[in-house]
Amino acid sequence: MKRRAVKLVGVGALAIIACESPGEERQEAAYQKARQEMVSKQIKARGIRDERVLAAMAKVPRHEFVPAQRRRHAYLDSPLPIGHDQTISQPYMVAFMTEQLESKPGHRVLEIGTGSGYQAAVLALLVKEVYSIEIVKPLAERAVKDLKRLGYGNVTVKAGDGYRGWKEHAPFDAVIVTCAPDHVPEPLVEQLREGGRMIIPVGKEGTVQSLYVMTKKGGKMQQEAVVPVRFVPMTGEVGKRRE
Ligand code: SAH
Repeated sequence: MKRRAVKLVGVGALAIIACESPGEERQEAAYQKARQEMVSKQIKARGIRDERVLAAMAKVPRHEFVPAQRRRHAYLDSPLPIGHDQTISQPYMVAFMTEQLESKPGHRVLEIGTGSGYQAAVLALLVKEVYSIEIVKPLAERAVKDLKRLGYGNVTVKAGDGYRGWKEHAPFDAVIVTCAPDHVPEPLVEQLREGGRMIIPVGKEGTVQSLYVMTKKGGKMQQEAVVPVRFVPMTGEVGKRRE
């Protein structure tokens, strides 16, 4: 009798272990399906055509960059809170801004506003090196951990004010800003190489901002406002200047 009981416990434990894994696999498959739908219904359907961008959006596990209680919403057509009053941008906006950067595999890109690290991860699949600055220290720390855990080894994150850029690694082939200042920070223009592109939302806090696509030509920025947007404000030095 005794022997039989032991055997049963053993079988039960095995069954639990065996069950856990298919459950996780099913969950991953469901996320992957949701991600494919996100790409076709939210991103392709609205006109994003760059195959490299579409492939990157189909690959990066967005659910790994949002807080656990928001995971089931990770592939919805909207921004999501990530704590500290900040948000991860809507997937379409990430795809649109990434496409506008016209990045090449050899590029080095500067991002201002790491947030969750999701945009940096998408860029990491498209370029050689990504440098990203986040002003909220716990967010920067969490992004570093998540990017490392998920294997994005070509992203370097630092906690600090992105207004001044990252001189040590300049010049950059492209600059992407995911928080909105009320003017274009001059250091970011200086740190962009000639011919490089910058994507940046600009506008006063609480108003609708414009997303600008800029190209550096002859040391000057040629700019075009492409779409009205609403990003979180850039804080730090630029915020103090506003007061
Ligand atoms: N790219 C992010 C979304 C970021 S939301 C993602 O993929 O998740 C904008 C981020 O900009 C916020 O995390 C905010 O804290 C940060 N931010 C605001 N002002 C900043 C500044 N001066 N320097 C660096 N980061 C800043």
